[in-house]
Amino acid sequence: MLDMHVHLTGHADRLATAGNIREFLDQARRMGLKQIGFADHDYYYKDLNLPLIREVAEEYPDLKVAIGLEVDYRPSDEGKIKNLLEQFPFDFVIGSVHEMNGWVFDFPEEEAVHHQKDPDRMYKEYFHWVEMAAASDLFTTIGHFDLIKLFGVRPQTDILRLADAALEQIQKKGLVIELNTAGRYKPVGEYYPEVKIIQEIKRRGIPMTLGSDAHGAEYVGRDLERAAQLLKNLGIKDIIGFNHGQKEYYPL
Ligand SMILES: [Zn+2]
Ligand SMILES: [Zn+2]
Repeated sequence: MLDMHVHLTGHADRLATAGNIREFLDQARRMGLKQIGFADHDYYYKDLNLPLIREVAEEYPDLKVAIGLEVDYRPSDEGKIKNLLEQFPFDFVIGSVHEMNGWVFDFPEEEAVHHQKDPDRMYKEYFHWVEMAAASDLFTTIGHFDLIKLFGVRPQTDILRLADAALEQIQKKGLVIELNTAGRYKPVGEYYPEVKIIQEIKRRGIPMTLGSDAHGAEYVGRDLERAAQLLKNLGIKDIIGFNHGQKEYYPL
């Protein structure tokens, strides 16, 4: 089992101290993980402490510890993101769309706005941004692939048609898509992405990984056993960890 999406510092709730790192790694051990991937939000990059994580990780020889980053993708920021990524030797980088043209759409107070929008146009724009993120050559992984559904607003058009170009680009670039379990705790109440999309991901041969999106140590590994079981039932054979940007395959 892997958890390749955890936020050590949450939303700047705590610092990357040795004690906090140990809490995450202890929980990873309790959950039986083989690899954990730290992926703090890019806007807290000043709190990153890669050397300390590597040092504490030596106390856990049974656990592979990867260090990545979750980046808020905006097409106008590509240069800035590139500069930031060059400053740190990350094992992996998650590209996530949380915002479109200045609208940060995943804040709880945005729920009403979702219901006012034309759902098909909203989904089209969202997946266009995901497609641009995939094409940017900045990322190894695409985060919560269908996040735009979080408040339960569904499109009229078939989701696979809406997501087609984004999936095509992800496949072309050899990127990984995560099954992110945090969607279960949002109004939509299901994983990102939905099962129909996972089936299409498998059909295209796009590799997958698992992530809890934990913003606290107690959530590390949450729901990942059942998520792994779902992937297995859909015929997926392995999931992806990372080491210095290289994929490592873990049989399910
Ligand atoms: Zn995210
Ligand atoms: Zn996250």
